[in-house]
Amino acid sequence: MKSFKRLRIAAPAALGAAVLSLALSAPAWAQGYPARPVTLVVPFAAGGPTDVVARLLGAAMMKPLGQTVVIENKTGAGGTIAAAAVARAAPDGYTFLIHHNGMGTAPALYRKLSYNPLADFEYVSQVVDVPMTLVGRKDLPAKDFRELQAYVKANGDKVNLAHAGLGAVSHLCGMLLRQAIGAEVTTVPYQGTGPAMNALLGGQVDLLCDQTTSTTPFIKAGSVKLYGVTTSQRLKTLPDTPTLAEQGLAGFQVVVWHGIYAPKGTPKEAIDKFGAALRTALKDPAVVARLAELGAIIPPDDKLTPAGLQGWLQQETQRYAPVIKAAGQFAD
Ligand code: ASP
Repeated sequence: MKSFKRLRIAAPAALGAAVLSLALSAPAWAQGYPARPVTLVVPFAAGGPTDVVARLLGAAMMKPLGQTVVIENKTGAGGTIAAAAVARAAPDGYTFLIHHNGMGTAPALYRKLSYNPLADFEYVSQVVDVPMTLVGRKDLPAKDFRELQAYVKANGDKVNLAHAGLGAVSHLCGMLLRQAIGAEVTTVPYQGTGPAMNALLGGQVDLLCDQTTSTTPFIKAGSVKLYGVTTSQRLKTLPDTPTLAEQGLAGFQVVVWHGIYAPKGTPKEAIDKFGAALRTALKDPAVVARLAELGAIIPPDDKLTPAGLQGWLQQETQRYAPVIKAAGQFAD
């Protein structure tokens, strides 16, 4: 993380004065930051869980940041197109990325990744942890997870499982389910699980494993069938829904963590100011209440820091590599 260092060079008076003014201007720059709207890139389509979290927090950050947070949905390739674009963006404090586990799985999934998650970014903070739910179209014959396993085994590749691309957590969850149930299904990619949910509601696909920040309203409305949650314990928001682990998939757990990143070289002052606005938003009672309603968990304060995100990303990247290798899902 670059901060404006005071230049120390022997120089003629004129250059010396310029150097001095440059060195003194750093705080002035920081005091003026942000001087215009800040862009938060969402690597998936509008309406999906990442977008829901980004828009909720972006709106709550405007007051503490003193500027508008513009949400930009940049889709494709399971979030790697957006991450690559932010890695190449100007490190001026006006471009940030919100992304999830996909930041840690991409190096194992994509052989020709054009960025290094562990080297091409500055780290701002973790954001929220979100459980996942396995949901089916409303008229799917299986009434519970036990029947669903039998249905999937009997119908194999006639069963369509929607996801948001290689690197998306809906894809990761789907692959782990395929392995655990031991049945091949047809996977159908979308630009995000917002569009995937629309396809499920329209009956074009049969199953979707997606985050509670997106599925909760549809579950509560009875618009989809709920087969289980992907956490080790049942959710307070869905207390009557068993975990998949309870229903025979011992140890099955997928929780979606999120981080906020900036291009390498973004000034420390910008990282600190954006991170402080995020932490203020995560203490906003309306935000806390909405995130709780949607089943999202706010991490402890020590994770809401650059070191908290960087350490977690390093650990998760190492953890995913063998899991993905075993699943045999790669892309060039
Ligand atoms: N988080 C993605 C979205 O918001 C979906 C996924 O990763 O599965 O669409």
